[in-house]
Amino acid sequence: MTGEKDALLKAVDDCTQEMTEALQALIRIPTVNPPGERYVECVEYFDAWLETLGYETEIVSVPEERLAELSPQGNGSPRPNLLARLSGPGGPGLRVHLNGHYDVVPAANDWTRDPWGGEIADGKIFGRGSSDMKGGLVAQIFAVEALRRAGIQWSGQVTHSIVADEETVGNMNAGTGFLVEQGVIAAGNTDAVIITEPFGLDGIGVGHKGAIWGEFIFHGKQSHGSTPHLGVNAVELLARFLARVETELQPELRTRLVTDIPVAPPEAAMSTMSFDTISGGVATNVVPDRCSVTFNRRFVHSESLEGTRGELLSILEEMQGEDPRIEYEYRETYATEPTLVGDDQPLVQIARRAITEMGRTPTATISAGSHDQRFFVRNAGISNAILYGPGPTNISHQSDEFLAIDDLVQGTKTLALMLYEMLGPEGS
Ligand SMILES: [Zn+2]
Repeated sequence: MTGEKDALLKAVDDCTQEMTEALQALIRIPTVNPPGERYVECVEYFDAWLETLGYETEIVSVPEERLAELSPQGNGSPRPNLLARLSGPGGPGLRVHLNGHYDVVPAANDWTRDPWGGEIADGKIFGRGSSDMKGGLVAQIFAVEALRRAGIQWSGQVTHSIVADEETVGNMNAGTGFLVEQGVIAAGNTDAVIITEPFGLDGIGVGHKGAIWGEFIFHGKQSHGSTPHLGVNAVELLARFLARVETELQPELRTRLVTDIPVAPPEAAMSTMSFDTISGGVATNVVPDRCSVTFNRRFVHSESLEGTRGELLSILEEMQGEDPRIEYEYRETYATEPTLVGDDQPLVQIARRAITEMGRTPTATISAGSHDQRFFVRNAGISNAILYGPGPTNISHQSDEFLAIDDLVQGTKTLALMLYEMLGPEGS
């Protein structure tokens, strides 16, 4: 490694205490989503901090009249996003965008630590959002700080977007989705994107599976429970549909796999269909005229959104052909195509080199759950977009979530090496 790189990595080490304290302070602002608590306070914290560091900052909030549409679970509470830009002393160069969400999922009751305490034990910082992903936000800010504090003559521009509402998904959202829709983030102003979601120190997030969340509602005809033959039982119609999916579709789905690239978690490598809530009927002596079920269908890259949807509907059409009494409605609440960026994208290679330089073995990974990468790749058309951030992939949304301080430091160093390759004097 060159002397400059040594200085860069040392600068990260020197930031350890500051990084730890910043993460603790962020955990202590419980930005729980839904519904989206303490958002303004959190964004103001970042705004003041980054301004002190010399960034040009801008808060981009969703206008009130669009809150219900973009943030349906937000009860009308504000949805601010922070943009912070900094140009290097070396003049123009690549425009690197670093993105992270500041919202966190609620904490369940089975924590053995205070989820909002930022408690430190055994070299780990505990708290909701420590890994997913306030740790990533801290890492992306200090990776840039390391570049500056090491006195490196870097060129180009760094933009941080610190966004709301990643956790509540949605076809569009009030965070990254909104910034892309507004053209604030666009292919014309962005050369490379790193989303600092936790993918482990070795993991490079290159994509996610596709998804449809939706509901089937079966309509029948009420009758007295003692004369069921006079009605049409909606619960029984739905039961037939569930049985059909189980015998006809599920065995086929298990054979459709994500190939070539490992999936996190590995058990999620196949195409899946899960029925998650069911409701129907009013009383034990009334034949039910309505029964509904919600579902969560995750599909792999060899499938398409349209094909996946058509496959579900064709089962129902077949059933209708056999029994014309079947009436149903089909609704979707969320749908996304799968996302995947190729190994030929410069950032995938840059991440591979940085992870290798840190003495680790890089692993490109697809995640089972969808994330904000879809907005960069699919909506903004920026394919040079990866995920890399400290924290294990399997601790997000769990009780006693933590981030090891050493992982935070190592992850920040790896990010700093990626920035150095793109923005440093020896860079592109
Ligand atoms: Zn996350």
